[in-house]
Amino acid sequence: MTPAPHNTLLFNTLTRQKEAFNPITPGEVRMYTCGPTVYNYAHIGNFRAFLFEDLLKRWLKHRGFKVLHVMNLTDVDDKTIKGSQIQNVSLKQYTEFYTKAFFEDARNLNVEPANHYPKATEHIPEMVAMIEKLLEKGYAYKGEDDSIYFAISKFKAYGRLSKIKLTKLKTGARVKVDEYAKEEAQDFALWKAWTTEDGDVFWETKLGKGRPGWHIECSAMSMKYLGQNFDIHCGGVDNIFPHHENEIAQSEAATGKPFANYWLHNEHLLVEGKRMAKRYGNYYTLRDLVARNCDLRAIRFLLLSTHYRQQFNFTFEALEAAKSGIERIENLMRRLPDSKGTGDQVKSAQLIERVQNQFGAAMDDDLNTKAALASVFDFVREVNNLIDANKLTAAEARKVQTFITSFDSIFGILSDTREENLSQEAQELISKRESARTVKDWKTADELRQKLKTMGYVIEDSAQGVRWRREKN
Ligand SMILES: [Zn+2]
Repeated sequence: MTPAPHNTLLFNTLTRQKEAFNPITPGEVRMYTCGPTVYNYAHIGNFRAFLFEDLLKRWLKHRGFKVLHVMNLTDVDDKTIKGSQIQNVSLKQYTEFYTKAFFEDARNLNVEPANHYPKATEHIPEMVAMIEKLLEKGYAYKGEDDSIYFAISKFKAYGRLSKIKLTKLKTGARVKVDEYAKEEAQDFALWKAWTTEDGDVFWETKLGKGRPGWHIECSAMSMKYLGQNFDIHCGGVDNIFPHHENEIAQSEAATGKPFANYWLHNEHLLVEGKRMAKRYGNYYTLRDLVARNCDLRAIRFLLLSTHYRQQFNFTFEALEAAKSGIERIENLMRRLPDSKGTGDQVKSAQLIERVQNQFGAAMDDDLNTKAALASVFDFVREVNNLIDANKLTAAEARKVQTFITSFDSIFGILSDTREENLSQEAQELISKRESARTVKDWKTADELRQKLKTMGYVIEDSAQGVRWRREKN
């Protein structure tokens, strides 16, 4: 399929610029996103990244690209090993539990599944082969602890993504842990020789008894499923260094080819103005929010509503606002089937054309969701005005529905308003009210209508029978 002739601009961390997106194979996108380390429930900061990636994928598909998406599962690293030891269960048992939880959470947030979810523990031979190649080419060496390290001084482009300066670097200084700061740039572990701390987690390989470092996992798995050079690699800004810098170094040193062409990173999430941390009492997994009865679709909408490259401040107040935003759109969708106005075709045609252009232009501008949503809410307001004035024809109402449906194929926040379930209590009240009306007991009918109103349902009697909608905010 030929992509539509739109220029989608994406901000590439490699160049620190917005660039027109052009995939290697016309019409096809190969995309890798760093997946969860399955050592705990994913928190809402993790989900900000996964939702931004979901939006990017849905937008590219909307623009006519076929997308091949790979997301890895880090099921062996420093954190998973430590976690399994604390709980005194096998690494497999431990990570499988959190893998399952991750998929449940992703489904609850309406994240479209990736094409492949490779697990690190199932790709050890690929990692070993890559490390052997790096040893052969002189980019890697064995340390006195028998671990194998990548020699960053041998890779001249080291620092290209994170823009770190290597002048102060102590040559030969080594780091074995997976995560470390920019100021500590040094030779990092590709293969970690077994120590007693690893317990029963090890593989006997040509590189010796041990386990892979975290960074090599993503290089080996992305190239296996997407090829040595692919289009897009995503993650959170905290992945830029060291994780993605190291991925580039290992991959390009091994293949002699460019690795990913576009690197996209989402900014941090703050909660109530602060960096999310357990010690601040503002640390939330998705499950914590569900336990507080937060609306899942509102969470999705809220996390998508700020541009991905801006820091985003999560508050419960903003979550309520996101929920009423969804309701505004849904209420319009409920009104549309009944709109049989006399028509102001010029006005409604203009409105539809305008929102399509504004929405598309904003999304093509590096996924500017804030501007895109502003155009949608303007549109909703103006269409409501047309319906109020009895000027939206049935044919135009269908065009509005088509636009909103297409909008929702990208944002994924609306419930199916035709099949939406009323709460059982509301259903009972509506049917009691119908019975009262049948026997012309207007007083009871009116009381029940008021009761439903306090529950947030507006009841309208029409020739086709009773209709209901959620109260407009
Ligand atoms: Zn990764």
